Amino acid sequence: MTVPAYIGIGANLGDAQATVTEAITRLDSLPHTCLTARSSLYRTAPIDAGGDDYVNAVAQLQTTLPAQGLLDALLDLEQQFGRERPYVNAPRTLDLDLLLYGEECIDTATLTVPHPRMTQRAFVLIPLLEIAPHVVLPGAKPAQDFLKDVRDQAIMLIR
Ligand code: ADP
Ligand code: MG
Repeated sequence: MTVPAYIGIGANLGDAQATVTEAITRLDSLPHTCLTARSSLYRTAPIDAGGDDYVNAVAQLQTTLPAQGLLDALLDLEQQFGRERPYVNAPRTLDLDLLLYGEECIDTATLTVPHPRMTQRAFVLIPLLEIAPHVVLPGAKPAQDFLKDVRDQAIMLIR
């Protein structure tokens, strides 16, 4: 069965714009997966961390990979871009988060979906709603309903 999945993409080390753009292309090349929509690129200040501004985007995939298989592929892609995890919220060459996997709720040791912080982050919600204005979280909750909670967070459209 093909499932729509949404991926949150972030980078704030090196040429972050180029990394995010290239990562979107690579998502389209994952096995059993195709890219069906991509948001604009956005710039945001780091939350709970220092370092450079982030470049963020959201991609919509259609995939027949199981959720954990998709996460493994995302973590593998992060590694290919030289991702290191020296400490929590450290600057990152590439961060790929599985935001939504259809309308499934998943809670295992390695995977929580919907991504636990997605409704509190403008850098997720704004690009997500750009490409999927009517997307719902499990329990038929429109993602749009959370926009009011993030309106104080600065986010700038790059292109
Ligand atoms: P964060 O993105 O929260 O700053 P990391 O990218 O370092 O942190 O992710 C750490 C771990 O979070 C991953 O190894 C993965 O197993 C786990 N994880 C749990 N749920 C998710 C999800 N929905 N998307 C991505 N990673 C997740
Ligand atoms: Mg992550």
